[in-house]
Amino acid sequence: MALANRVMGIKPSPTLAVDARAKAMKASGIDVVGFGAGEPDFDTPDNIKEAAIKAIRDGYTKYLPVPGTDELKDAIIAKHKADNGITYDRAEIIVSTGAKHSLYNIAQALYGAGDEVIIPAPYWVSYPDQVLLNDATPVIVQTREENNFVLTADDLEKAVTPKTKAFILNSPSNPTGLGYDRSALEAIAKVAVKHGIYVISDEIYEKIVYDGFRHVSIASLGDDIKALTLTVNGLSKSHAMTGWRLGWAAGPKDVIGAMSKIQSQSTSNTCSITMKAAVEALKGPQEFIGVMVAEFDKRRKYIVERLNAMPGVTCPMPVGAFYAFPRVKDLYGKSFNGKPINNSSDLAAYLLEEAKVAVVSGDAFGADDYIRLSYATSMANIEKGLDRIAAAFGALS
Ligand SMILES: *Cc1c(COP(=O)(O)O)cnc(C)c1O
Repeated sequence: MALANRVMGIKPSPTLAVDARAKAMKASGIDVVGFGAGEPDFDTPDNIKEAAIKAIRDGYTKYLPVPGTDELKDAIIAKHKADNGITYDRAEIIVSTGAKHSLYNIAQALYGAGDEVIIPAPYWVSYPDQVLLNDATPVIVQTREENNFVLTADDLEKAVTPKTKAFILNSPSNPTGLGYDRSALEAIAKVAVKHGIYVISDEIYEKIVYDGFRHVSIASLGDDIKALTLTVNGLSKSHAMTGWRLGWAAGPKDVIGAMSKIQSQSTSNTCSITMKAAVEALKGPQEFIGVMVAEFDKRRKYIVERLNAMPGVTCPMPVGAFYAFPRVKDLYGKSFNGKPINNSSDLAAYLLEEAKVAVVSGDAFGADDYIRLSYATSMANIEKGLDRIAAAFGALS
C-alpha cells in the first residue's frame, strides 16, 4: 500500500537524527563527543519538579481545556506583559505539546495549497517541512553572514508575491546564534504590514542571550503588526524542560481559535501535570536561568575562540541560544586518505567516523557552507571535542 503523498516530500528531523546516532554509538561503547544536542544539559529546577509531583499526588490527572487552563494562560499573559510589553487576553493564547507543536498548529490553520511561506536561511530544520506537510510552498531566502544572517526589509520585499501567506522569524536563531535588533524588526514589520502577511515569530531562545543583547518581540512594535503576528514560545530551552512537552502561541483570536479546533481533533490538551509545572516555571523563582546562561556564556566564548583559531574556519560570536555556527567552506575540496570532502554532510560524516565527534551539517539548515555545534554539553566534552576536530581538520590535505 502506498503512503500519502505528503510524506514523500519530507525527511525526519536531521538534528534529532544526529543526536540519536551519537547516542547509539555511545551505547555501543564508542567514545563519541556529541555537539548535536538541541537541548540544555541542565536538569529541570527542583521547584518545577515539585509542582509536578504535587499535581500527581493531588490527582490532577484528567482531561483539561484543549488550549490550556486559565491558570496557565494567565501566567503566560503575565509573562508577555512583563517581558515583552505585549497585552494578550485568554482567547489569544493556546498551549500545545511544545513550541514545535504550536508551530505545526499554525501551519495547519494558515497554510494550504498555493500558499507561499517565506523562510530565511539558515533556518530551523522543521520550518520548511511543516510548510510542505500542509501542501504549501516554502520560499527560502538566503541571508548573509556579514549581515548577521538578518533578513533585511529589502530581502523580504523582494520575496513577497501575491501568494505569500506568512514569514517565519526566529530570533535569537537556531542555528546561527545571532539575532534581530529592534531596528531590523521595525523594518521587517513595515513590509509585513504593507502586504498583510502573517509573521510567525519563534522566540524560544529569548531568555538565552549574551553580551547585553536585548530580545525584542516583533508583536510589541505596534497594533498593526501585533494583529498579524503569532508569537511562539515555551519552556523547553529557558527552563530545561524539553521532555515535558509544553509550548504556546499567542496571537489573533481567529487564528488561535482555529488552532484550538485543530488541536481538539489531534492531541487535545497537553499533559495536565506539565501544565502545573509550567505555572510554577513561569511564576516561581527565575534565578536558574541566569546560572544556566552564565555557564553557556563561558562555553560560548571558549568554543568560538577555538574554532576561529583553526585554519580555514571562521565563526561569528553568537548573541543568543547555545549554538556555534562556523563557516567551514574553505575546507571543502580537501580530502582524507584520498576521500574528498565536498560539502557539509561529507565533513560531518568525516568528523563522526574519523574523529568520533557529532556535529550537524549546515545543509540541514539550508546553509551548506557551515556546520552547527551545540555547546549544551560540559566544558570537558567541549575541550575534548575541539581537540579532536582540530586534529581532524589538520589531517585533511
Ligand atoms: C527547540 C526549538 C523549538 C521547539 O521546542 P519545543 O517547545 O521543545 O517543541 C522551536 N524552535 C526552535 C528554533 C528550537 O530550537
